[in-house]
Amino acid sequence: MKIQFIGGARTVTGSQHLLFVNGKKILLECGLFQGRRKDTYEKNKNFSYNPAEVDAMILSHAHIDHSGNIPNLTSNGFSGCIYATAATVELCQIMLRDSAYLQGRDVEWVNKRRAKKNQPPIEPLYTMDDVEKAMGQFVGMQYNRTFELFPGIKVTFRDAGHILGSASILLEIEEDDGKKIRLGFTGDIGRPVMPVIRTPDILRDLDALIMESTYGNRLHSPSEDVEEELAKVVRECCDTGGRIIIPAFAVGRTQLIVYMLHKLFDQDRIPQIPIYVDSPMAVNATGVFRNHPECMDREAHRVFLKDGDDPFGFERLTYVRSVDGSKALNVATETSIIISASGMCEGGRILHHLKNNIGNPNTLLLFVGYAAGHTLARRLMDGKQEVNIFGEKYKVRCKIKMMDYFSAHADQGELINYLRLNPKEKLKNIFLVHGEEEQSLVLREKLVSKGYRNVHFPVPGEKFEI
Ligand SMILES: [Zn+2]
Repeated sequence: MKIQFIGGARTVTGSQHLLFVNGKKILLECGLFQGRRKDTYEKNKNFSYNPAEVDAMILSHAHIDHSGNIPNLTSNGFSGCIYATAATVELCQIMLRDSAYLQGRDVEWVNKRRAKKNQPPIEPLYTMDDVEKAMGQFVGMQYNRTFELFPGIKVTFRDAGHILGSASILLEIEEDDGKKIRLGFTGDIGRPVMPVIRTPDILRDLDALIMESTYGNRLHSPSEDVEEELAKVVRECCDTGGRIIIPAFAVGRTQLIVYMLHKLFDQDRIPQIPIYVDSPMAVNATGVFRNHPECMDREAHRVFLKDGDDPFGFERLTYVRSVDGSKALNVATETSIIISASGMCEGGRILHHLKNNIGNPNTLLLFVGYAAGHTLARRLMDGKQEVNIFGEKYKVRCKIKMMDYFSAHADQGELINYLRLNPKEKLKNIFLVHGEEEQSLVLREKLVSKGYRNVHFPVPGEKFEI
């Protein structure tokens, strides 16, 4: 069998790995390349292989850097099944639609500029119709239920503990000549300490592994008592009568914060102030979480689910879907917590809340996630005194705090630990993907020094026989 690394190779976006086995072509992931538009548009638009020749696709999880180019793949001729966990299928409904909307809006803006220069308009990568068509090809599976993809190719989804529905994939292959290979693909690996989501279920006894390496060069700060830290932040803010604004990704991070606040309320560790989740996408994503208790960890079952309690709903919490409801929050002055998207403050309702509260010294802006360079969230985290919102300048007078505990990716120690059930004499090839040189090369050195053989860091397009 052969593996070709197409995207997510020496970078963290655009994951795409093509397997050639028993005369079949199987695609792992079809992620969107993200970054500057002029660098990524053509890369996403054109495939280096013919999508019509791919026989099946397997998807590890719903994040756009893994799933975001699927509608383009299907509209370019891929007609096979897309296998993912049932929760991933549901999350893709939400995330791919949002992606189509964002791309439509983006292209509108580009085309206005092109028109001024007398250039012809460009097409969006895909539309809502393309998403609808793609969704018809998804097949929802359960964790730990092995199925035969094609003769001689068995597939099992194991919980990757990264986001709801995320999976690591085990492929048990018997080639036409009788050779047997256990190939693993980690997808994105989560952290054992995350609430709600289960601890990663490790792939074992592999002959070859395709492994993510996002944080191959760093160790996360030790998570002491995160719940108490959050409780303390809320109590302090209540004492001064201010508001807490939390920019958070609508899928995943928002639900984790809501879950923790629910626990803190029930334990009387924070005052009875109102909490608002102001993001239609977060409201939809929370519905998916509610539909999939089978993906949740033991604590969520013990604390909430066994008594029929909803981890994501409680008296003091209001989900705001309507625009009017969101506007009403802008004029209210009560002490409260507002959780809104986008997490990097690049769009969405969070911008209105920032505009209205950023100049208030009693407001606390609480960051709970990663922000890429050149985003508004990054500028605020870096301590800029003045920022632009909707084209106008605003002085930053609010308090700013960052809680970096919430990373959804394993760090270097956790990545190395992931290999512990794989004897070095059996695991003959490790392919590091989903990482940049700075991260992955450090991890490669660590793995080699621990005695792992053939630790590769493929370049885009590189093909290996295993
Ligand atoms: Zn991910």
